[in-house]
Amino acid sequence: MTATRRALVIEDSPTMRQLITLALRRIPGLSFVEAADGAQALEHLEHDRFDVVLLDLNMPVMNGFAFLEAMVAAHPPEARPPVIVVSTESGRGDVQRATALGVVEYVTKPVRGPDLAAAVNRVLAARA
Ligand SMILES: [Mg+2]
Repeated sequence: MTATRRALVIEDSPTMRQLITLALRRIPGLSFVEAADGAQALEHLEHDRFDVVLLDLNMPVMNGFAFLEAMVAAHPPEARPPVIVVSTESGRGDVQRATALGVVEYVTKPVRGPDLAAAVNRVLAARA
């Protein structure tokens, strides 16, 4: 029996969140919580442990890069969950910047459910 894994979905678009969580529901043993911006997500990180984070970049209040910088500043490497960026921004500069901040996978919108699930499964397998 596998222990429950926890995902944090950070995405401002309700439609997009629904699409992402629909894909996550197909992964056995994975539960998730949702945040609409980086600030909400940081609050969740204070109180909860996550095995994977799915992160949009373009968001109001606190965008994805600001979230990554705050997470890196507040948590030592061993306490940071691996991050998958899910974004329309796929320029080389964005990808390099995200990678430097610890992003391990990059999924470009429009998202295909199976691609997203595959990325999540790779990240979870690497942590097993
Ligand atoms: Mg967005």
